[in-house]
Amino acid sequence: MKTAIFSDFDGTISLKDVGYSLFHYFSDGKNDALLPDWKSGVMSTRDCLLAEAEMVHATPEEIYAFIDTIGIDSDFPILLKIAQEKSIPLKILSDGLDVYIKYLLEKEGLGDLDFLANKAELVDNTIKITFEHTNKECKSCGICKGEIIREFRENQDKPYQIVFIGDGYSDVCAAKEADILFAKKDLKEYCMKEDISFISYSNFNNVLTELKQRNII
Ligand SMILES: [Mg+2]
Ligand SMILES: [Zn+2]
Repeated sequence: MKTAIFSDFDGTISLKDVGYSLFHYFSDGKNDALLPDWKSGVMSTRDCLLAEAEMVHATPEEIYAFIDTIGIDSDFPILLKIAQEKSIPLKILSDGLDVYIKYLLEKEGLGDLDFLANKAELVDNTIKITFEHTNKECKSCGICKGEIIREFRENQDKPYQIVFIGDGYSDVCAAKEADILFAKKDLKEYCMKEDISFISYSNFNNVLTELKQRNII
């Protein structure tokens, strides 16, 4: 069977959750008050992101200087290279912001890589977020990764096995759709609670090893 790989960005490809860290830093930790409601599903991702962005008062230079302190997992480009050689589609699905994903990928020489994320502009000393993506059903996510995976399957003439790699609550809809799920941190806890099967991992080196063992890459 053919394989497609989808991966979260924040805290999965990037070594720290860029969105969370950025909002935490520039709001002096005030964004933490929003997180219990977001994690329990009372507050949607869109409302949470907009509220967090309102707390930011910083110049683009200050924001990029902060983003610059966060690196990416050095084994992710290895997985990407193998996927490209084997014509395995690999796409980043993020419910974070395009502005830092683009910046960090370009910095790593991965600027051509396809990704989906919410749109953000650094203007008027703050972050202006727009939601151009329309979810069909999901009211929780900004961009519903579960719906994206379902759409991908529907658009193929052959069945695909879907690998998904993630770490947090923005990945829960995708977790339900994936055939092979790599989960850590909050996503792992969610999967244990909801009885969703997953492979526990810490980094992309683990992902590479596991996918090779299963003859997927
Ligand atoms: Mg994440
Ligand atoms: Zn969703």
